[in-house]
Amino acid sequence: MRKEFLIFAQDKISARHRIEQVVDWEVIFWEINMKRCRNTKIVATIGPSSNSPEIIEKLYLGGVDVFRLNFSHGDHAGHEKIYDIIRSVGRRHHSSPTILADLQGPKLRVGTFENNKVILEEGDIFRFDLDKTPGDTKRVNLPHPEILEALEVGTSLLLDDGKLRFEVLSCSPEHAEVKVVVGGQLSNRKGVNVPQVMLPIPALTEKDRKDLDFALKLGVDWVALSFVQNPEDVEEAHSIIKGKAKVLSKIEKPLAVRAIEPITKISDGIMVARGDLGVEMNPEEVPAAQRLIINTCHRMGKPVIVATQMLESMITSPSPTRAEVSDVANAVYCGADATMLSAESASGQYPLEAVHMMSRIIEVTEEDPSCVRRIEDNAQCPHQTALDAKCKAAKSAAMYSNASCIVMFSDSFDHVACCSRFRPTCPIILGTSSDQLARQAGLLCGVYSLVMKKEFNLDKLCKIATTTAIDRKFAKIGDSIVVLNDFDGDSVNILKI
Ligand code: PEP
Repeated sequence: MRKEFLIFAQDKISARHRIEQVVDWEVIFWEINMKRCRNTKIVATIGPSSNSPEIIEKLYLGGVDVFRLNFSHGDHAGHEKIYDIIRSVGRRHHSSPTILADLQGPKLRVGTFENNKVILEEGDIFRFDLDKTPGDTKRVNLPHPEILEALEVGTSLLLDDGKLRFEVLSCSPEHAEVKVVVGGQLSNRKGVNVPQVMLPIPALTEKDRKDLDFALKLGVDWVALSFVQNPEDVEEAHSIIKGKAKVLSKIEKPLAVRAIEPITKISDGIMVARGDLGVEMNPEEVPAAQRLIINTCHRMGKPVIVATQMLESMITSPSPTRAEVSDVANAVYCGADATMLSAESASGQYPLEAVHMMSRIIEVTEEDPSCVRRIEDNAQCPHQTALDAKCKAAKSAAMYSNASCIVMFSDSFDHVACCSRFRPTCPIILGTSSDQLARQAGLLCGVYSLVMKKEFNLDKLCKIATTTAIDRKFAKIGDSIVVLNDFDGDSVNILKI
């Protein structure tokens, strides 16, 4: 059956409506997201500084919309404990915040050294090989034959988050002889990046597959894939996840930036993972990549998170630098769906202060009239589809009637993501019969979800919309709201103003 939207009304909410509508209240089961004074969402990573029930509750009340479990650290028992705390905090507040499981991905590392570390000087000749014996100033084990096979003379190898740089002089499937271009200390098990080369390695390692299976059994809402290189990596993840969670691709390789269109098309969402991206690209190229990724997501109606070092100095300081404040604001100006805290909330000294600060920066930035204009410029360009036409019309209707909110009834993630992509300035309340969709939509800019019984009667839906908008304090008596109905596939499209 063809899904149709019904752009029904920008009804003035009257006191009479309000009284009549109370009868419909019982159809609402569950409120998913906490109402905030902003549209851009906050993702916070949970770790040793924040994994207690008290802190998680404070983080939620303080502004966190999406909790990130980072599978690069910790064990399954620890992640399960955090998951249960988040769900129980949610229940205490009659809601269910969004949970994102971030898989480690194929993080490549060197082996160990006889003395745990060596100092390498610029111009030194060094060797990576498959020999597992501890290394010295002349060589070290690189336990990834697939990297050695993919190298060519002239390829750059970056070690320890790009602090050391090597150039390949000669190579075979068993070794690579390299010249040290930027030297320094290299210690046991440091990470290896090979920016220019498409590595013949699967996006999901054995560890990732176990972690994924565990995360899906827990019931996470989103899964993030690390070091995605091409759309096939995402396809493989979809074939395992089978719709049990939404799939977010982390863009942290220049090759993935170049393939951003096909990767975005097949992903449910994207993360600008600036940590590794800033190692694999020159740091000065990262801002342009960020804008390209955000604009691509807007065009394709996919949510986008800007991540890493957003308030980095707040790991050890209660206030951020001016440059960090600007960075968060800039992500909002460019129209990110969410901004993310990593070590700031996971292992820093001021997790709560970081969330409060991020929330304040977003609120103040969104109040700037030029913020609205910038997002519109990026997000416009509707596709020639009925869905886009209706979502764009709903946004215009809300804007010209100064509506307090758009209430959208839908069981389709893509449809609510499409409505969000036009970045209406007012919030979108999603009424859905799917718990899972309600939680997944928590990542979308401006979207707040309610789980409800599926209702087909249009009058009833409009009453539910007005009651919900008022009760949730999204609107007050006398305000306009816009209602979009995607529940009834047979509906006729009507726009009433
Ligand atoms: C990043 O590299 O920016 C990132 C978010 O990934 P991770 O924290 O897993 O390294």
